[in-house]
Amino acid sequence: LFSGETDFVKGVVAMDGMPPDDRIEICFAGRSNVGKSTLINALTGRKALARASNTPGRTQEINFFTCADSHYVVDLPGYGFAKAPKDTVAKWQRLLKAYLSGRATLRRAFVLIDSRHGVKAVDEEIMSLLDRSAVTFQVVMTKADKVKDAEREKNLAQTREAVSKHPAAYPEIIVTSSEKGWGVDVLRAVISTLE
Ligand code: GDP
Repeated sequence: LFSGETDFVKGVVAMDGMPPDDRIEICFAGRSNVGKSTLINALTGRKALARASNTPGRTQEINFFTCADSHYVVDLPGYGFAKAPKDTVAKWQRLLKAYLSGRATLRRAFVLIDSRHGVKAVDEEIMSLLDRSAVTFQVVMTKADKVKDAEREKNLAQTREAVSKHPAAYPEIIVTSSEKGWGVDVLRAVISTLE
């Protein structure tokens, strides 16, 4: 699936701009700076596919990429940027809700959690929204190379506990480091099994 071409399709700011839902789709969500762009780049093997870092206040787009003509990989705007203006946040929440409940082909959301921080309040909000939208989600820990083993285990346990309370959560958590390449193959394999 990830050995072929991955191409940017478009950035979408409203539901009527979405590409046709004619293939399997997965999406990535996470707090700003969680390492989402870097992970999507590592996953697809491209250098600068997903834009690095979302700047606060910049247009919040849902970015669509195609993978092997059979899948869409969707990069949701980073959330939880304290400095983002209220109306930007409200607009993003509306679009996100519409997207999550309106995409019949969306098979799984991957919620990225920083190995250094564990699950924060904004992550809880996203996971609850995924519950309400009945979108199965799976948690991916990022930047695992940045923490010592003991801290990684502690934050993983906290995350596992938080995830267990969400009916839409897939229980298995994937631990990754885009920097070291850890877990990226596991993530690819999981995505490849989705039908
Ligand atoms: P985004 O805002 O979620 O898209 O985050 P980025 O992908 O832009 O990453 C934010 C920062 O974390 C950048 O400086 C990345 O180089 C760094 N980063 C991302 N993934 C990793 C990782 O696995 N390990 C380390 N050490 N740094 C990472």
